[in-house]
This record gives sequence, structure tokens and C-alpha cells, in this order.
Amino acid sequence: MKKLFWEDPYLKECAAMVESINGNEVKLSQSVFFAFSGGQESDSGTIGGIPVKEARKEADGGITYVMENPPTFSVGDEVRVTIDWEKRYKIMKLHTAAHIVWFIFERKTGVKKLIGSNVTNEKSRIDYEFPESVSSILPELEGEVNELIAKGAEIKTYADAENPGRRWWELGEWKCPCGGTHLKDLKEIGALKLKRKNLGKGKERIEITLA
Ligand SMILES: [Zn+2]
Repeated sequence: MKKLFWEDPYLKECAAMVESINGNEVKLSQSVFFAFSGGQESDSGTIGGIPVKEARKEADGGITYVMENPPTFSVGDEVRVTIDWEKRYKIMKLHTAAHIVWFIFERKTGVKKLIGSNVTNEKSRIDYEFPESVSSILPELEGEVNELIAKGAEIKTYADAENPGRRWWELGEWKCPCGGTHLKDLKEIGALKLKRKNLGKGKERIEITLA
């Protein structure tokens, strides 16, 4: 399946050929509809006018779409795939934001290893094993992150040269593997708010919301 959300994460809809139907489960030739992976929530939307209940990434990298109702289309048909753009754009902002907070947190503390992360359209979060409360660091961290966002910077995402199923995220000197959907420029985020959550047992969470 061709992943159009990688080639152009700003696509809100596309045409696709139905490759298989199994009960309410559908596979397509190509799609703009992201399926939960790497902690990023699935898109919401429709295929052939029918709401998608669940998008499931398969072990082979393909995506199975579970429809709310039995499909009214057939294998070989061309269907329209649409996504809830307002939701997706927030996810793109909050996902890109999580990368920036992560890199600046590392610059400030030397701690890089995450023990958890998640992105929805309401907030993103990154979790650390950290010996003290991150409360004292947060105001400065938030200031630096928002300063960087205000300046703006181009973000590049591209396929790995040897393994096209693997994607890279790059901003200046910062680079990491990531198969999510991202903004083209940091300044699209606007501004962020950071909040601490104590997870107990030396575990700290940074919650990121759009300001
Ligand atoms: Zn990412």
C-alpha cells in the first residue's frame, strides 16, 4: 500500500483502489489515512463515504481499515478516502512539538532515553526516568521551545536509503527515526504549554498542549 501520508502529510483525501474486503475489513492500494503506530493516534475519516472504526497497522507494514458498517463497495472499485483534517493537523503539531521538547530536554539535562510517549489531537506526552521533579526545569524549557517555534525552521522527513519502510525526521542537527506525520515548518505549531505529571517511582511525564 502506498502511504500518501508520508509523501505529503498535508493531503486531506485521495482516491484508492479497493484491494480486499473481509467482512468489515478493507485494504486499499494507497491511503492518506494514518494507522496508530509509534505512539501516534490513528486518523478519523471515511472510505467510500463509510466511517472508519479502526485503522490497524499490520506486521508487513500494510494497513487494515475496519469499517463501521459493511462496505457497499467491491474489490476493484475506486473509492474516496477522507480524513478529519482538523484532528490530523493538531496531531501533526503535537507530534512535531514532542520531538522538539525531547531534543531540548536532552540538551538541558543530558537525558535522552524515553520510557514512553504518545500523541493525540489533544496532547502529546513524553516520559522519563528522572531522579527529581522536572517542575523546576519546565518554565525554562517551555520558553526555549516557544522561542524556537517562533523563529521557525524547516523539518525534513524522508525514507531510509536502504529500508524504504523506515522513515527519518530531521531538523538542523537533530535527527531521529520516526514514521509519524509532521509539519513542514516548526512555526506552524504556534505556541506550546508544558505541564509536569509525577508518575511515581522516579518517573516523570511532560505533557504538551497547544497554547
Ligand atoms: Zn515523529
